[in-house]
Amino acid sequence: MATNLLNFDSRGLAEFCTEIGEKPFRAKQLLRWMHQSGAADFDVMSDLARSLREKLSSLAVIELPQITLDHVAADGTRKWLLSVGAGNGIETVFIPEANRGTLCISSQVGCALACAFCSTGKQGFNRNLTVAEIIGQLWIANKTLSEQPSDSYISSNKAVTNVVMMGMGEPLANFDNVVTALNLMLDDHAYGLSRRRVTVSTSGLVPAIDRLREQCPVALAVSLHAPNDALRDHLVPINKKYPIKELLAACQRYLPAAPRDFITFEYVMLDGVNDSIAHARELVKLVQDVPCKFNLIPFNSFSDSGFKRSSAEAVRNFRDVLMQAGLVTTIRKTRGDDIAAACGQLAGQVKDKTRRTVRSKTEAAQ
Ligand code: SAH
Ligand code: SF4
Repeated sequence: MATNLLNFDSRGLAEFCTEIGEKPFRAKQLLRWMHQSGAADFDVMSDLARSLREKLSSLAVIELPQITLDHVAADGTRKWLLSVGAGNGIETVFIPEANRGTLCISSQVGCALACAFCSTGKQGFNRNLTVAEIIGQLWIANKTLSEQPSDSYISSNKAVTNVVMMGMGEPLANFDNVVTALNLMLDDHAYGLSRRRVTVSTSGLVPAIDRLREQCPVALAVSLHAPNDALRDHLVPINKKYPIKELLAACQRYLPAAPRDFITFEYVMLDGVNDSIAHARELVKLVQDVPCKFNLIPFNSFSDSGFKRSSAEAVRNFRDVLMQAGLVTTIRKTRGDDIAAACGQLAGQVKDKTRRTVRSKTEAAQ
């Protein structure tokens, strides 16, 4: 089978070049063609000898996920549904703002971690995405946006200035592929993004947070969602394996290597579940030793979620408690919810292999 060159970062590509009897520096040329010029065809690589182009065509491919849907929301948010074979689909979302363009990237088809309030989690899990499928989302967004810019953002060389791994899936559960894709995002011969502008969001896989610190310390966002283990066990079941104390210790270890001097804690606001003033006070105490910022996410509903969004007043009151304690707190603007592109609404198409969907349908019927 032909090798998909989008699966390689600079090191992998240099190894591939050596294997096929070429000089490793060809890797840089290939990276620039693929990731900076958006080439998906060896024929356009005009500074490579024809013989090399022919050799590459016979041994390798540049293969991207297929775009099956491309929606633009009223606020300019754009969502792509990408097919990754065997009936599986993932979603990628571009969020244009005045001074930046953020791409929200998926890392898995579905997610095995089954957080109670998450649409992706409810769909079960099929498989990890390959490096080509992860970096392909950035490739496709840059290419499409440069060819057809939406009205609400000013076309520039690079449409995507920031990447957040906050789409479908738990990025740290697909560690090796995610790190290789991160290497490409940061590589000056590929996307050249700074570490501060690339964020990995995790539900709290403690050993993988440590490995990320060692291998590729980009900005870190941690999905906290509760101020104590009893509640977090229920909302984010991986907490039973890696409880809050261990998670916060991993955050402390991460900080010296992090590109920013704080960790971002995400906190989904669920009406009557985790949004009281008492919860806010408990949270203040909990994180007192961790330099951090809070991002409160109003819950985005989906069918059969069983949760309601906190009122705007409850969210503001919660924020005020955190702010008064000196914690910088933002409330995430809900973007693209008219096209189901908001946090936690990404559904894609998941051929579940965990039987979770069967189980939850059976439970619902009882
Ligand atoms: N698996 C990773 C990243 C993907 S989810 C993680 O859990 O961090 C990105 C963010 O959206 C997480 O903070 C997640 O908890 C939040 N989220 C999930 N479902 C949501 C929903 N229905 N409404 C609002 N935010 C949600
Ligand atoms: Fe997975 Fe994140 Fe959704 Fe939890 S919130 S189920 S970890 S995608």
